[in-house]
Amino acid sequence: MSVTIRFCGAARTVTGSCFLFQTETGRLLIDCGLFQGSKTLKALNYSAFPFHPADIDSVLLTHAHIDHSGLLPKLIRDGFHGPIMATRGTIDLCSYLLPDAGSIQESEVAMLNRRNTARGRAEVSPIYTQADAVASLDAFRPIEYDTWFEAMPGVRARYWNAGHLLGSASIEIEFASEGLSGKPLRILVSGDIGPNAKLLQPDPVSPAGLDYVISESTYGHAERPPITPEIRRQHFSAEVRAAHAANGPILIPAFAVERTQELIVDLVDLMERGEVPAAPIFLDSPLAIHATEVFRQHSSSFNSGIDVDRLLRSPHLRFTETVDESKAIAKFTGFHIIIAASGMCDAGRIRHHLKRWLWHKNATVLLTGFQAQGTLGRFLDDGVKAVRIQGEEIKVAARIRRIDEYSGHADGPELERWIAARRPIHRGVFLVHGEEPALAGLSERIAERTVPAAKVFVPILDDIYELTTSAPTPIDVTHRRRLAPEAVVALDWHNDMSKLILAINARIEAAADDRGRGVIIRKLRRALEAEE
Ligand SMILES: [Zn+2]
Repeated sequence: MSVTIRFCGAARTVTGSCFLFQTETGRLLIDCGLFQGSKTLKALNYSAFPFHPADIDSVLLTHAHIDHSGLLPKLIRDGFHGPIMATRGTIDLCSYLLPDAGSIQESEVAMLNRRNTARGRAEVSPIYTQADAVASLDAFRPIEYDTWFEAMPGVRARYWNAGHLLGSASIEIEFASEGLSGKPLRILVSGDIGPNAKLLQPDPVSPAGLDYVISESTYGHAERPPITPEIRRQHFSAEVRAAHAANGPILIPAFAVERTQELIVDLVDLMERGEVPAAPIFLDSPLAIHATEVFRQHSSSFNSGIDVDRLLRSPHLRFTETVDESKAIAKFTGFHIIIAASGMCDAGRIRHHLKRWLWHKNATVLLTGFQAQGTLGRFLDDGVKAVRIQGEEIKVAARIRRIDEYSGHADGPELERWIAARRPIHRGVFLVHGEEPALAGLSERIAERTVPAAKVFVPILDDIYELTTSAPTPIDVTHRRRLAPEAVVALDWHNDMSKLILAINARIEAAADDRGRGVIIRKLRRALEAEE
């Protein structure tokens, strides 16, 4: 007998969650996420899956975020014809998120192809289209929390509320009689784990007594001061008042789902109580507008004591769904609030607003969540002096601020406690879904204190382990890797290149005069020639 796991995504520094479980009789996929971040990673979205989609019996989806669900339409287009099991909340969110992802891919590829044609290069086709995404929605089957169901013959599964997002789940899987002495082999896949005291979600729950735990580690290295609703609202209102004092807009690059609704709920409430000045709040994202509708429909499922439905209908809120409505926002000056996708500024309408406002020192950009390496949001967060948007260099004069209290993720101590509460964990903990420092931080935290160090594993992309042995046994995958291990770990060269060009421009502009500029240029040229 054999049960293997293949880390097809979310392994060491790689985004895009996807785990393949294989037995002699079937194959089960947990998540099928889009790779985000560097160009090397994004290229994986266009290449073939490391398995045959037609061979997969079913997909269990932890939650709707695109880095967990975003390749499902491609999976189906490439031959998968089984069911996708997900909670009702996840299904409702995916019904907007996936078509939106399809249309983003279509428009990105259309732009790329215009450039390719001009340079005489071959055209590329989108990873999948909006129509592919709409067609994929038929495969979804609703699952209740806390209820066993058959995932494939001989394998049952149960969803636990992960407290990360509307509908989010950790998934418990049991392979009948594949464990020690004929017992079931029990595995828990964390999905993304929410923090304690999250605005709209309960604290995460999950079972104990498992053979394996596969845990996310996004903020595994971070240790936040304890967050209470009061602290969160105080920090947010201080940021809003400071932006108001600067007499410019606040641009909030928004994660369209849940973060946006949390920010609106708090912001409207603060305005109603007079704790921040009232101003129009533009929700400038068709996706976030639709997600807000889904949140209103599910408002009874959120923490009691917050009238989500009423707050999300506030007259302060202005939905700008059409392009014309969105463009009209640019006429506003002075203090106003623009919430626009995407949260890491790598796509969406926020880029137009950043182009309009980044070079104004009275504007404020308020980052509200994780910024992946290689994204525009990360560059801003790192304090660069200029950025490139749609091929144009834009100086950064705006106030760049961040607020971490709305995180959708548990921090290091919370993840450690979450893993500890799953004990006994008999055979191993796999740490996934994190950049190097996060994985190292969480691994250091739990090794010995929570589980023996020898039982902590940090797999890299496409690693395969046999799980029925007393400890996970790595299988040789040398010839089956999509990326060389060193390529996975190294920061993409494209990022280094853009940072270098920005640094050169900054240095040349800072030179005293044209003669000084000439000297710098000659030195750089000599350095290049020395390389040849
Ligand atoms: Zn997530």
